[in-house]
Amino acid sequence: MAKQNKTRTLWRWMAGQRGRYLAATAAMAVGIVLLYLSPQIIRGAIDGIIDGKLRGQGDFVVRCIRWLSGDDRHRALWVAGSLVIGTTALSGLFTYVKGRWAAFASESIARDLRERLYDHLQHLPVFYHDSAQTGDLVQRCTSDVDTIRTFYSTQVVEIGRAVLMLVTALPILIVMDWKMALVATALMPVIFVFSMAFFSRVQNSFKASDEAEGKLTTVLQENLTGIRVVRAFARQTFERDKFEHKNEDYRRLNFRLYVVMAWYWALSDLMVFCQTAAVLFVGASRVSHGSMSVGTLVAFLQYEVMVVWPVRQLGRILTDMGKAVVSLGRVEEILAQERETEPVKTAGDVPERVRGEIVLEDVSFSHNGKRVVDGVSLRIPAGQTLAVLGPSGSGKSTLVNLLLRFYDYDAGSITLDGRELKELDRKFVRSQFGVVMQEPFLFSKTLRQNITLGRHAAEEPETVEAATAAAIHESIEGFDQKYDTLIGERGVTLSGGQRQRVAIARALLRDAPVLILDDALSAVDTRTETSILDALRGRRGRHTTILIAHRLSTLAQADRVIVLEHGRIVQEGTHEELLQQPGLYRRLWEIQGALEEDLRSESESGVDASRDTGFQPVLEASQ
Ligand code: ADP
Ligand code: MG
Repeated sequence: MAKQNKTRTLWRWMAGQRGRYLAATAAMAVGIVLLYLSPQIIRGAIDGIIDGKLRGQGDFVVRCIRWLSGDDRHRALWVAGSLVIGTTALSGLFTYVKGRWAAFASESIARDLRERLYDHLQHLPVFYHDSAQTGDLVQRCTSDVDTIRTFYSTQVVEIGRAVLMLVTALPILIVMDWKMALVATALMPVIFVFSMAFFSRVQNSFKASDEAEGKLTTVLQENLTGIRVVRAFARQTFERDKFEHKNEDYRRLNFRLYVVMAWYWALSDLMVFCQTAAVLFVGASRVSHGSMSVGTLVAFLQYEVMVVWPVRQLGRILTDMGKAVVSLGRVEEILAQERETEPVKTAGDVPERVRGEIVLEDVSFSHNGKRVVDGVSLRIPAGQTLAVLGPSGSGKSTLVNLLLRFYDYDAGSITLDGRELKELDRKFVRSQFGVVMQEPFLFSKTLRQNITLGRHAAEEPETVEAATAAAIHESIEGFDQKYDTLIGERGVTLSGGQRQRVAIARALLRDAPVLILDDALSAVDTRTETSILDALRGRRGRHTTILIAHRLSTLAQADRVIVLEHGRIVQEGTHEELLQQPGLYRRLWEIQGALEEDLRSESESGVDASRDTGFQPVLEASQ
């Protein structure tokens, strides 16, 4: 039952290309008919011309040859030879046409499949990507799609070919000599059953091997992404062992698979040769008794190969089909994941641009049952700046993710300009935010392309203005190709602080009503930070701003500050108010004051003063 469904799935994916497959099969049928002609011509040549026994009578083929050659024996041989070459060449032409159509159809299916997959991955909710392994996804989008493509490009037509060959060759054999036909097909049911048994056995092995390959890709991908961490912690040996382990698993599974395959081919070879031997043995004795002609025997031997071939090929076809079914299953697992849903009704008439008032009321959210945001209520009037302080793991980034609707809050309410966030279109919500993520991601494109990511239509002066505000313009001008400098593998490598500043420029250029900097100044030095903060102050009122930061110099800029701990707001007020209260904020102020004092005296005695006075280590120590 399940298998039937899978076969149907294979069939469903052929939609749109079935006409082409039909044409390919038709071309192949013509090719096969032409191919079948040559044993008949050879038989006619042997019996009617070389042997000369059938002179004066003979069947259709012999009569044709005789008619073409005008009863001249020598010419008749030439005619027969040319006919064999001609029909084979024509048959080859049709085989080419078949291959072309089948290739076109299968490539189209594979392209559509890849497109659907990619599109689907773009629209899956963030929590799916949280738990999915990138290596495994890559494997499914490439290797698995390729297995499916191979099946559609070669095997689909091969199935048609096997069936066609069987149904056309059998009647020919029966008409030529039905007793010999029985001998020639005696072992065929055995070969068929054997193939089927093999197929069901090998299918699980394919699945296991595919999964092992996915794990191997994942290990490789993780290792390459985290290569610095691996080096820094001298984990090479551990990583190599981990890889070796997965690699060995993969080898073992593949080896087992190929052992089974080797058995299959050896045993089916044996059966095919037994079958041929039987035809030769029985046929030769019939020829010597005079109840069969030599030409018929030769033709029989040729057809024998043609008939046994598809039956034997069945094993391979079914194996590949098994592989394709497994791969398709893995691909459909992704496609079956639900996309991010959009609200049925969008709250009233939504403006193109909100003012940017954000209100949270008793918002709670859990990750896998663990409360990460716990009853948070706050109000940020449009155009104002809120600073968020809290030890790592206190839920700051999660709060940002909730605002962007990467996750939906479990309880409470978040409104943007008075509209409930959950009732707004995700795309719309995200278009209202300019965000600098905690770990900004830059594409391996040019600096300009990275900065204008959120607003492709941006003019050059606007781009430069954003880059200047983000204090990255000067660094960019320092590169040979300025804004056209490539980032990443083929271009320049940026420092952590430079990456953050490019990301800030990107967010500023977007000019969205709400600006969020999630710890986006952690890797820039204090002087650059001051310049960026000045630029932000210059834009005051233009954006509602949320600054997640650890440095008091940043926090002091805000209209309001909240202190988060374990997902809860523990302190709230202006910078001055918080300094009056006992608590985390004041404690940190005192520690940082002492730190700065130390640095100042160090710098007076000639020690580098540009050292980071970040709060992060202190915060972690205070946890
Ligand atoms: P912060 O930004 O304040 O450092 P986060 O908001 O990133 O903290 O994380 C808050 C808590 O939520 C942490 O305990 C973290 O382990 C957990 N968390 C964050 N993201 C996920 C996730 N995708 N799945 C499960 N837990 C998560
Ligand atoms: Mg964070």
